[in-house]
Amino acid sequence: MQPEVGSGLSQTDNQVANSLFETVTRVEHDLKDLIGALALLGVKRCSQCRQFFRCADPGALFDNGQLVCYSCIPNWWSSLSTRLGVADRERTEGKLASWLRKYHRAEVVKETSGKVTDTPDAEFQIVAQCLECAGSGKLMEGERCRFCNGHGTVRIVVPK
Ligand SMILES: [Zn+2]
Ligand SMILES: [Zn+2]
Repeated sequence: MQPEVGSGLSQTDNQVANSLFETVTRVEHDLKDLIGALALLGVKRCSQCRQFFRCADPGALFDNGQLVCYSCIPNWWSSLSTRLGVADRERTEGKLASWLRKYHRAEVVKETSGKVTDTPDAEFQIVAQCLECAGSGKLMEGERCRFCNGHGTVRIVVPK
């Protein structure tokens, strides 16, 4: 006699698959509860590398709707900044620049030429709109902005 083929999973296989599915669902649920509990304790997770950080340290995670830890900032920002519209990018950029200055000793560096050159002793840098002239490169009465040398942008450099 030929054994029956073609029905795919046997009864036992189905039961195993079902209980496996239940277990995974339960674990997923527990994990969600646990992450919620950690947030109550002041521990939050980086949306990029999934590591946990203490919220008590304001320099650990940058909050932009999604949380990003300091070491994920360079990659996260370079991919995000190309996807944002001008207004959103400028807003996020300003927020990021002040966060970097406040918690990571970042300095505002004037552009010396039209193009961005890398600073060798910088760990990370972003180009941001000059706050003094709102990116126009000019101050009142058309005077060239001395904060950005008239380029309208400055570099926010985080030292190593
Ligand atoms: Zn991270
Ligand atoms: Zn300026």
